[in-house]
Amino acid sequence: MTTISLQGVGVSRGIAIGKVHIIERNQPETIEYLLEENMLQQEVARFKVAVSLARQQLRSVRDHIPPDTPGNITSFIDTHLLMLEDSALIQEPINIIMERKCNAEWALKVQRDALVSVFDEMDDAYLRTRKDDVDHVVNRIQRILLDQGLKPHEIPDTRLDGYIILADDLSPADTVMMQHKKIAAFIIEHGGPTSHTAILARSLGIPSIVGLRRALRFIHEEDLLIVDANKGVVLVNPTESMLAFYRQRQLDHIRYQAALISLREAPAISRDGIEINLQANIELEKDFETVDKVGARGVGLYRTEHLYMNRETAPSEEEHYQDYSRVMKALGDIPLTLRTMDLGADKTSGTNYEHIPFAANPALGLRAIRLCLKEPALFEPQLRAILRASAKGPLRMMIPMLSNIQEVKEIFFILDGIKRELDEKGIPYDPDLKVGGMIEVPAAAICADKFAQVLDFLSIGTNDLIQYAMAIDRVNDEVNYLYDPLNPSVLRLIHMTIRAGEEYGTPVAMCGEIAGDPKFTRLLLGLGLREFSVHPAILLEIKQIVIESNITKLAPEALKILNARDSAHANELLENLNSL
Ligand code: PEP
Ligand code: MG
Repeated sequence: MTTISLQGVGVSRGIAIGKVHIIERNQPETIEYLLEENMLQQEVARFKVAVSLARQQLRSVRDHIPPDTPGNITSFIDTHLLMLEDSALIQEPINIIMERKCNAEWALKVQRDALVSVFDEMDDAYLRTRKDDVDHVVNRIQRILLDQGLKPHEIPDTRLDGYIILADDLSPADTVMMQHKKIAAFIIEHGGPTSHTAILARSLGIPSIVGLRRALRFIHEEDLLIVDANKGVVLVNPTESMLAFYRQRQLDHIRYQAALISLREAPAISRDGIEINLQANIELEKDFETVDKVGARGVGLYRTEHLYMNRETAPSEEEHYQDYSRVMKALGDIPLTLRTMDLGADKTSGTNYEHIPFAANPALGLRAIRLCLKEPALFEPQLRAILRASAKGPLRMMIPMLSNIQEVKEIFFILDGIKRELDEKGIPYDPDLKVGGMIEVPAAAICADKFAQVLDFLSIGTNDLIQYAMAIDRVNDEVNYLYDPLNPSVLRLIHMTIRAGEEYGTPVAMCGEIAGDPKFTRLLLGLGLREFSVHPAILLEIKQIVIESNITKLAPEALKILNARDSAHANELLENLNSL
């Protein structure tokens, strides 16, 4: 049997070996039938029963979600339930049945196509995932109508243990049903790193690859696979020597991870005695556990956009406060750096209550702090909640997307007003609440010295800093090839920021993705970075590198990369640095 190799995008790291179980979620085949006038009411009733059954199924899935399920899974199901109340999905197909005198399946298909074509015209990654939601809900109703619904008990309970799941797409409800089976890996034909499946797979810690195009053509039920999600590669029907190689890598990985756990208590001190502050980036509830497991010194980035998403109105002060109190309780004494809302561009709420007008270049438009300063009704409840929460434990506030000092002055002005209000009402808060800013716009990096003088701390957001320095839209895969953390212009901006912090005694952290990429740890240490905020799952790997590094030796070599001739030269210098 020949081995086939397929390439996708690895979105949740790890290696899995096992047999495959295929879940096909293609749109069910639908055919249009013309109905007699006297059949129409009956057809409408059939459609209504299907919608109501779909609701019952989803409610039953939601009610059986185990308590330790990541919060975002529940919210995806709630979103699907809300869609089952939406007239676009429940009333419009009825109108189509009546007007076209057609069967319910066809009416639903016509309406689905109309909705999806609207999403298709929107060049926005988040909205594209909304399109997937429409399909998940439509398919559920279609399958009930066609009486071919995939019921939970159709999958024997133990059958999926150790299996690799291949699907053209996987709905959140399916994922919930599978999360406590011992799934070895997910491989999905569609989707990208921002798809719901990718988000869920990461929070469940299951190795996963998305965008594995036409996998269903080459992979058959019960085929043996190797999934290397670190590289995005799937090997179908591997040879014995391939299996031996990957089994060894799996064992090495397990041993390595077990050995890393022993580093939990170890201080992150380099060989030449420099202490590094290793913090965690968090978003989901599941991340809290990992923060504790790896012994992070703090949370360097808590993204709060999820509070604003998939709802009709902005969250109230009380909702903010309850969420922050819950996170602080879960973290215990670990200090929390809470980032104020960063909606706009690719991070939209899913509705338009934040009144973001259409923009030809949203990444350069009304986003993050710009939106907050324009819409006090969105920002002030969050600020009040942050101040109130600051009375309960160690909390710092961080502002995203700063581009000039005037913005900082405006924030302090608003904060002072809220503090006065709280004083008048006798509501406690931390009067020394530390306020920091993200350096992710090149203008802010170039003038980092100005920001270092007025803020308590800085944190470099490389995801955006690279987007803006290289003029590449983060969500446009046509220009992703220009994403290069080693580009000297990017490294110089990072270096300037670190130096500005040193000059004014202002701590500088990094919370963008490259802080958690082991390939760049030594380089960043060499450039003077002393605080990293990374996904908790990678934190101990970074600690291991810190412990093995002699930072004094790394510094001159790291500076050489700032003057690399081209990308090949930069990579060569990085390899040298990593082998020191
Ligand atoms: C960044 O831009 O590097 C960052 C950490 O923020 P986000 O990815 O949320 O924009
Ligand atoms: Mg950012």
